[in-house]
Amino acid sequence: MASSRRMNAHLKKTQIKELKSIIIAERERIQNKLNLEKPHLAVNESNSGRDEVDSANDDIMRHTELRFATRETLYLKKIIKTLHHMDTDEYGMCEECGGEISFTRLRARPTSTMCISCKEESEREEMQSSHGRVSKSLGKSVSFT
Ligand SMILES: [Zn+2]
Repeated sequence: MASSRRMNAHLKKTQIKELKSIIIAERERIQNKLNLEKPHLAVNESNSGRDEVDSANDDIMRHTELRFATRETLYLKKIIKTLHHMDTDEYGMCEECGGEISFTRLRARPTSTMCISCKEESEREEMQSSHGRVSKSLGKSVSFT
């Protein structure tokens, strides 16, 4: 999507390695959580589609479960995406402005795709448009209805 090639030259290999181990631990934590609480909801990397509606009761149950699972699953997807991203030299570069995301910030939140100033900017926008809720960073699959 980006035309000019960006490089995360500000990150050392050892730093990326460190971030990777953080995020792998995080992935395991979420996976365990999902397995423990929802053993039947296997997490697929691919989109596993929605179940057809069986009965009304079942649907309500499932709805509640899904709402919980969706958040975790989305986060897990983000983690997996980040892991792939880490193998490219664009990891650690801001999606918005193409600037460097500092190692300190990445260590606190390895899934960051924006630098601090862009992030603050987008949060301000979200606050302003809190009525017409647009979930930019999470993707369009989220709907909290
Ligand atoms: Zn930025």
